[in-house]
Amino acid sequence: QLIGVVAESASGETRVAATPATVRLLLKLGYRAVVEPGAGEASGFDDHAYAEAGAEIGEAWNADVVLKVNAPSPTEIRRLRKGTTVVGLLAPAQNPELLEKLSAAGVTALALDAVPRISRAQSMDVLSSMANIAGYRAVIEAAHVFGRFFTGQVTAAGKVPPAKVLVAGAGVAGLAAIGAASSLGAVVRATDPRPEVADQVKSLGGEYLPVDVAQEASTDGYAKATSVDYDRAAAELYHEQAQDVDIVITTALIPGRPAPRLLTAADVAAMKPGSVIVDMAAAMGGNVEGTVPGRAVVTGNGVTIIGYTDLASRLPAQASQLFGTNLVNLIKLLTPEKDGRLTVDFDDVVQRAVTVVRTGEVTWPPPPVAVS
Ligand code: NAD
Repeated sequence: QLIGVVAESASGETRVAATPATVRLLLKLGYRAVVEPGAGEASGFDDHAYAEAGAEIGEAWNADVVLKVNAPSPTEIRRLRKGTTVVGLLAPAQNPELLEKLSAAGVTALALDAVPRISRAQSMDVLSSMANIAGYRAVIEAAHVFGRFFTGQVTAAGKVPPAKVLVAGAGVAGLAAIGAASSLGAVVRATDPRPEVADQVKSLGGEYLPVDVAQEASTDGYAKATSVDYDRAAAELYHEQAQDVDIVITTALIPGRPAPRLLTAADVAAMKPGSVIVDMAAAMGGNVEGTVPGRAVVTGNGVTIIGYTDLASRLPAQASQLFGTNLVNLIKLLTPEKDGRLTVDFDDVVQRAVTVVRTGEVTWPPPPVAVS
């Protein structure tokens, strides 16, 4: 079968679903590949590099399997042939209309963001790959705006104190932010309702700040909404920390719900002028009062709140490489004979979970999967 790699049309998107290196891996699985001209340009991969890897350069929308980063737009869906398989970040829970359109187009749609959180599927977990990159980039954005050292220094010209960083939410993105900030020499603190992250925070050079209100444990690997008592105790912690730290990076998300509000306008007002907040939950409504998705805003007291929603796209070559590798791992699972023919086995929980439309029939949501 022919795999098509198409150019992304979403504004600000710099990633591409396959790089020359991952195209080589797709060819090894028995496929042929065609890349739309310029598809990799914004990530630094030119057509020539894809051609060298063995791909044709040309019309990619009428391939048997179309690889994308973002969900296809209505215009793009019209370009898909009936019977095509389209793969990308489809956010099926948030996009019932998209599923209807894909169903009407008679295609099969695989949602990379629906890969279940089980150990076996980790190699296909695009959300974790992107969260890791975004967490690192959040620190770089904060450091850029902060305009001062992260590390403390004692020099002949005087002593420079280290920056203090608070990371709220120590999941994949939070841990990457903790690692990046502490490797730059900052004093890093982190909090999360899941006390089991304390050791991971410590191993990356951070200090875990507990909120001593017991939480119901998660059964599916996803965070649950916190209790009123927890939120009250956490609010105290945030208010205290806001007065002391220079940088706050918030990453708190609860699947299927708006992001929890962690910092109020009063907390932001309590921060020192020149402080920086990166609200990584901006696209989901934000963890911070005053965040504007996609923008950096400066408050009356001189605090910059960064609400960029494209943090992973700001490191496009590596984001595309990791995205592409996760995607190859999924295609490998769907090509058991390595014969260049995609098959979907509904008895396999991973394949069942990612299939949101099968030859025109909406198959989302899948039955629940237990974590292993
Ligand atoms: P996420 O993006 O859903 O949430 C980010 C973090 O926000 C989580 O750590 C969560 O506990 C935290 N949070 C939620 N409510 C909060 C609140 N009110 N205040 C502060 N923090 C809050 O989570 P994630 O980063 O995708 O992953 C969470 C965990 O799941 C990680 O420990 C990760 O190792 C695990 N995981 C496992 C797999 C797998 O086994 N395949 C895949 C991905 C993630």
